[in-house]
Amino acid sequence: MKIAQDTVVTMHYVLKNDNGDIIDQSNEDSGPLSILQGHGNIIPGLEEELFGKIKGESFSATVEPTKGYGEYNEHMVQIVPLSGFRSDDENEKLETGMQVEVETNQGRAVALVTNIEGEEVTLDLNHPLAGETLNFEIEIVDVRAAEEDEISHGHAHGPHGHHH
Ligand code: ZN
Repeated sequence: MKIAQDTVVTMHYVLKNDNGDIIDQSNEDSGPLSILQGHGNIIPGLEEELFGKIKGESFSATVEPTKGYGEYNEHMVQIVPLSGFRSDDENEKLETGMQVEVETNQGRAVALVTNIEGEEVTLDLNHPLAGETLNFEIEIVDVRAAEEDEISHGHAHGPHGHHH
């Protein structure tokens, strides 16, 4: 069976950046990843590459930022007052490199603290992989037709998918 719209794909993957560093991977502990093809479960560039592949196939895919986590957007770097992060707990002192949850126009988001200077905090709201070219090594472990409830939920069920 070829991977098509509304198939459930189970795969092992290794994701590397352009420096060859492993950013993420499936492994013995996590098991392979199952996704519902054609429902935006994974980044568009990888989903495109999966179409037409079959069980047992291994391949490499390079995904540009526009089809991955987006280009790096300097407008998503913001300077906010330190007073918004005051805490009575010394252990919760804000430091560069910390990730914080912030309120944005699009709801809550995770931001990286990239600088603290005086009363000003610089927050980077870009996805950590924004601007990165993503290099995948994929091994297709299984391909099957999706169940009705998987299609209506928009995700894969089963041992490597969602549990509900
Ligand atoms: Zn479900």
